[in-house]
Amino acid sequence: MNITTKTIKSLFKPYLTVKNGYKGGKGVSQKKEGQKTYKLSSNENPIGTSPLAINAIKEAIKDLHLYPDTTDIRLREALEVYYNRELTKDQFICAASGSEIIDLTIRAFVKEGDEVIVSTPCFVPYKMFSRWSGANVIDVPLFENGYSLNVEGILKSVTEKTRIVFLTSPNNPTGSYISKQELKYLLSELPQDIVVVFDEVYWHFANAEDYTIAKSYIAKYPNLIAINSFSKTYGLASLRVGYAYMNVDVAAYLRQICKPFLITKLSLEGAIASLKDAVFIQKTVETIHSEKIFLEVEFEKLGIQFYPTQANFYLITPPIPSNEFVQFLVEEGIAVRPVDNFGATGKVRITIGTREANIALIKALNKLKLISLN
Ligand SMILES: *Cc1c(COP(=O)(O)O)cnc(C)c1O
Repeated sequence: MNITTKTIKSLFKPYLTVKNGYKGGKGVSQKKEGQKTYKLSSNENPIGTSPLAINAIKEAIKDLHLYPDTTDIRLREALEVYYNRELTKDQFICAASGSEIIDLTIRAFVKEGDEVIVSTPCFVPYKMFSRWSGANVIDVPLFENGYSLNVEGILKSVTEKTRIVFLTSPNNPTGSYISKQELKYLLSELPQDIVVVFDEVYWHFANAEDYTIAKSYIAKYPNLIAINSFSKTYGLASLRVGYAYMNVDVAAYLRQICKPFLITKLSLEGAIASLKDAVFIQKTVETIHSEKIFLEVEFEKLGIQFYPTQANFYLITPPIPSNEFVQFLVEEGIAVRPVDNFGATGKVRITIGTREANIALIKALNKLKLISLN
C-alpha cells in the first residue's frame, strides 16, 4: 500500500467498510431460442402500471428540461385525499422510494453506538442502513413456527440505547403478518422514546381479519412511523417513489432533511395519478388473490412446502438445495429469489405472477419433480 492510500484510508469509517452490498432480485436472460422468461424475484406488480400513471408520465415528458417541484407538497395533498382526510398533508413525507425513507428515518434518529431491533428474516435495508449509521443491530428472530413476531422478546431486548424497532406487516420475505392485538400491545408496552417503524408496503394484499395498518394508531403514538411505497401495488418500482405517515411534529422534523428536488417530475406525476386509479389497484389485488388460490392448489399437488402469505409472494422450502433449485428455474426461464441474506437460510421467495407466469412456474416444478423421481 502506498502512503497516500494509507492516509486516506485512515479516514474511512469502520462501520462503512463492512461488506453488505444489497443484491436485488435478478432477471433471467433467454436460454433457448423462443423461450419466454419470467421475473418472479422482486415482488413487482404482475399486471404492470396504472394506465392513468402512464398517461400522466407521458404528459410530463415535455417538461424534462425543467426542474421538478421543489417539494413533495402536491403528492402529500393527493395522499390526504387518498386517505379520506383521516390524515392531513402535514403528516406525510415523500421521498425517492420506501427504502429512502427507511434510510432517512435511521439518519434522523440513530447515531453511532445506538441500537435498533429487527426481527429476521426481514427486509435487508433495515440492517444495512442502520449499520451505515454506526448502530448495532439487535436481532429478535421471528418464531420459526409460522414466522410470527416475538413480541415479548422485543420488549426484553430494549435497552437505554434502543432507538428504533422495525416491524413489517405483511413481512418480506415470509409473507407473515403482525396481528392488531400484537401491534396494540407492543405500542402500549414500548417506551415512547423508541421509534416504531411499521413497514406496510404490502398492505393492499393482506386480507386476514386481524390484520391492521398503522393508521388508527398514529394519533395516539407519536413514535409510530408507517412506511409505504409505490413500487409494489402501484407498479412504479422503476420510478423510485415512496411515502410515510406519522405525527405532524415528527413529519416536520423528518421533512427538514428531505433534499430539495428529490422526487423526479415523472415519479411525482406517476404517483399522483396512480393514487386516483382505484380500478387498477382493485384489479391488482384481485389478480394476486385469484393467483394465490391457483398456486396453492398446484403447490399442494406437487408437495411444495410453502408458508401462508398475506403479500404478493410465497416463501417456500425448495425440494432440493436452494442454489440448485434457483439455477434449475433459471434454465427454465424463471427468476426467483434465494433469501439467505434476509435470514431465511435455504428458503426461496417466489413472487406471484400473471397466470401465464404461474403456469410456467408450475410446469417447471413438475419437470423438476419428474427428474427427481427418476
Ligand atoms: C419493496 C419493499 C420496500 C420498499 O421498496 P422501494 O422500492 O424502496 O420503495 C420496503 N419494505 C419492504 C419490506 C419491501 O419489500
